[in-house]
Amino acid sequence: MNAEKIKEAVRLFLEGIGENPEREGLLETPDRVARMCEEIYGGMGQSAKEHLSKQFTVDNNEIVMVKDITFYSTCEHHLLPFYGKAHIAYIPNGKVVGLSKLARTVEVYARRPQIQEQLTGQIADALEKYIDPQGVMVMIEAEHMCMTMRGIKKPGSLTVTYAARGCFKEDFAKQKMFMEMVKQ
Ligand code: ZN
Repeated sequence: MNAEKIKEAVRLFLEGIGENPEREGLLETPDRVARMCEEIYGGMGQSAKEHLSKQFTVDNNEIVMVKDITFYSTCEHHLLPFYGKAHIAYIPNGKVVGLSKLARTVEVYARRPQIQEQLTGQIADALEKYIDPQGVMVMIEAEHMCMTMRGIKKPGSLTVTYAARGCFKEDFAKQKMFMEMVKQ
């Protein structure tokens, strides 16, 4: 990440909206934003591989689900936050990963400019690629600030996206089981 470019861009942006970047309250803002970017765009250049490559062998290939994983991301169309919950399930094929690694995988893809549809698919693809399970299902429910503080202004509206891979793909009974586990 190039902090100098971010700081320069923030100064220009402030000028662009008619602000004075030299006034006291804004003087440190470019630096603060640059440091914040390290965190909120920290998934850039990261791969889920580093989190998912430590695996454990199992005999029990029943469904594994982690739900209500809170995440914060940034909509790439408006650079405003969208945030909510991710629910992840997979059916192992002899291998599982530590449960916290599923949340880490969400972070890798959430902490970059995103759209929710793509975030959902990238998480599912990473699990499919690195754990090689029988199937994966991902659901994301999120509120988009670009829909609540601007535009059509619909606070509280949730955007829901799904991605199904492997044995979840055509199997509506498995998808239904997933939905029921999310709702529990
Ligand atoms: Zn947006």
